[in-house]
Amino acid sequence: MTRPAAGLCDSCRHQQLVPNTRGSVFSLCGRSRIEPERFDRYPRLPVLGCEGYEPAGAGRGRA
Ligand code: SF4
Repeated sequence: MTRPAAGLCDSCRHQQLVPNTRGSVFSLCGRSRIEPERFDRYPRLPVLGCEGYEPAGAGRGRA
């Protein structure tokens, strides 16, 4: 499977990787589900700055 580097999203706890049937993987922003007015479902990559960024494995809940 191939996918472009997603920048900040690659280390963000809100990133979800979504494979398609052609072998590509898309970087989905989980925050778009609860705040769609602030976050694109599939942000333009690479994401270099994001006010919603939270490091994976840090803070509350699951990583
Ligand atoms: S919150 Fe920002 S850095 Fe995190 S997955 Fe969404 S767009 Fe990427």
